[in-house]
Parts: sequence; C-alpha cells; structure tokens
Amino acid sequence: MREPGPRPGRQPVREPMDLGAYTERARTGPCFICAFLSGHPDYEHHVVAQDNEHVAFLDRWPTLPGKVLVAPKRHIEHAVRDLDEPAYVGLMLFVRRVALAMEQVCQPQRTYLYSLGSQQGNAHIHWHIAGLPPGVPYENQQFHALMAENGVINAPPEDMEAVAARLHQALTSTLEETVRTVRTKAGLEPPPTRYPGDRPSPTEAS
Ligand SMILES: [Zn+2]
Repeated sequence: MREPGPRPGRQPVREPMDLGAYTERARTGPCFICAFLSGHPDYEHHVVAQDNEHVAFLDRWPTLPGKVLVAPKRHIEHAVRDLDEPAYVGLMLFVRRVALAMEQVCQPQRTYLYSLGSQQGNAHIHWHIAGLPPGVPYENQQFHALMAENGVINAPPEDMEAVAARLHQALTSTLEETVRTVRTKAGLEPPPTRYPGDRPSPTEAS
C-alpha cells in the first residue's frame, strides 16, 4: 500500500467539479470560513496550523496537491484596506510560514500566492497557497492550473488527513529549528516542546 498524500513528481488527476452547486453554496450559504471556525458540520476543513489571529486549512476542492488556504479568524473582507500594517504583516508572515511548509512537503517547482473572493460570495479574506508540481506544460501553468473549471483533485479523506498532518509537522519542525537557532545564538536554554498554535495532542483534545 502506498503512503497517502502528495507524491512529488507525479501529476495529479483532475476531475470535473460541480461548479453550479459550488456557486450556489458560495452565494447563498453562510460565510464558509466563519461557519468552519464555529464548527458547522457542513463546512469542515482539515486544519494545518493556527494561532490567535490566523488559521491555515486545506482547500476542500484543491486544484493543485497540498493546496492550503490561510485566513484571519475575524470576519474581515478586504485584503488590504481592512488590515492595519501590523495585522497585514502578521497575516503575510503566517502565509509565508505555511507556504514554506507546503514547499517542504510538496516540493513544487513554483509557489503561487493569491487572494480572490467576492462581495457576492466568499467575502471573508483568504489567501491561497498553491504549489505547481514540476513537469506541468507551460500552457497548463498559472491561471490554467488554478481554475476549478479545469478540474479539481478528488483526494480521499485519508490523503487529506495525511497531507494536513505532514504540513503541520513541517511547520512545527521549521519553527523548532528557528527557535533553537535563535536561542542557541543567544546562549539560552533549549526551546519548549510546544508552541502557540500547535494542535493539542489526542489525549489533550477530549
Ligand atoms: Zn467570515
């Protein structure tokens, strides 16, 4: 049996998506991010990382393997004008951390970052982090690679779970490495074993 999750160097199969149902849900349903964060069962997503202000979670209809969305936890709608400089920088640094973890896990040839959304649906700011695998023909890169109209990856739940776990692990190890380096240089004690935003272990989660 193969290991679940993205396989670097392999082109994922993209299947048609029910765009009508997706549009209907986006335009008439609740804010999908607020619904997800409040625990609405129809809006579950695999959490990759979170801190007090931000959350990173797997795209439910990924067009590229390991595609992650990052959002502020507060319902904020405009990617630039609704954030002051510290909040904007904080969000972008969080995006960078998650993108570095995605690069470590998925080994893309190129990483795409973008924020879309609409005032008529999906208004809550979210950044897309999408890694283009090596070997995609030029005409199938960029917008072609990102559009759900060109199909989505129907990964089985165990693959989604495995990708989220690997991304979380990559984020944690990157953080540990950074903290260890900084503390060693400063002549301080070894770093703690847990960090803000870590998901609780299964024994703590009950
Ligand atoms: Zn919202």
